[in-house]
Amino acid sequence: MTVQSIGVVGAGQMGNGIAHVMALAGFEVLMTDVNGDALRAVPSVIGSNLARQVSRGKISEAEKAEALRLISTTPKLTDLGQTDLVIEAATERETIKTAIFEDLVPHLKHDTILTSNTSSISITRLAARTDRPERFMGFHFMNPVPVMQLVELIRGIATDEPTFRACEAVVAKLGKTSATAEDFPAFIVNRILMPMINEAIYTLYEGVGSVRSIDTSLKLGANHPMGPLELADFIGLDTCLAIMNVLHDGLADTKYRPCPLLTKYVEAGWLGRKTDRGFYDYRGETPVPTR
Ligand code: NAD
Repeated sequence: MTVQSIGVVGAGQMGNGIAHVMALAGFEVLMTDVNGDALRAVPSVIGSNLARQVSRGKISEAEKAEALRLISTTPKLTDLGQTDLVIEAATERETIKTAIFEDLVPHLKHDTILTSNTSSISITRLAARTDRPERFMGFHFMNPVPVMQLVELIRGIATDEPTFRACEAVVAKLGKTSATAEDFPAFIVNRILMPMINEAIYTLYEGVGSVRSIDTSLKLGANHPMGPLELADFIGLDTCLAIMNVLHDGLADTKYRPCPLLTKYVEAGWLGRKTDRGFYDYRGETPVPTR
């Protein structure tokens, strides 16, 4: 089972990052998104991210041009059915992901591998809604994809060995490192990271510290490269809330209760960097704390 072409569903921050690294590694990439603006922005978004790598001497101008040549877009999800490996990177909502796989299944080649970049949703449950649970698994990239070394590989209960090996080989071709996680809510990275972010939001909610003092404390006191609130804005507060809800529902333990202040920010549409406002306001020259 050799993978040459990749279908990416969702042209948000993760979909663009995944397409970027896949094309640099020589895979042909076909992307789709329900949002026409997001799809039209793909060449400029990935182009400017590649240009940043050129200016830092990480890749050459020729590599950038070749990567952009390998990426194409289509408004029709069903066109992705002819690719060897589909990576679903749409919004973190189970109904959206399930609908995508159900729409795609009748148009798939018999040996296409299906994967989801979900941060938390059950791979086994998503797989069960397709015609190929044995060729389905979790393919979880970290944000920003071109920078982060890790890819979590998650086997559903039915995932077969050739599928796992094929995905492992793709990660190796990207020059990244894989870690295997079992299919339980939020897998490894977010099982540990999200409760920490949620606790930082509780710390803010209860008035123990301000946005700045919490982020400064973790950066200088625990040597984290980013503070937890800054990181939450970077990930997207809607995604953070969705992951906390999956942990809370899936593990039925009150220690995963999402902080009401996180819910409030999401209700306000203050989702972090992608909407220019979250725990910081990004509309000016430098980010300003919103609390
Ligand atoms: P995002 O909001 O930046 O992008 C999501 C994209 O999906 C949007 O462009 C939206 O238009 C599109 N979309 C929604 N419904 C769709 C559909 N039916 N068909 C096609 N496209 C659709 O979100 P993101 O941060 O890129 O997250 C995407 C996925 O990656 C989520 O499952 C998330 O949990 C996961 N993830 C996110 C991070 C992170 O740090 N943000 C890290 C790892 C994994």
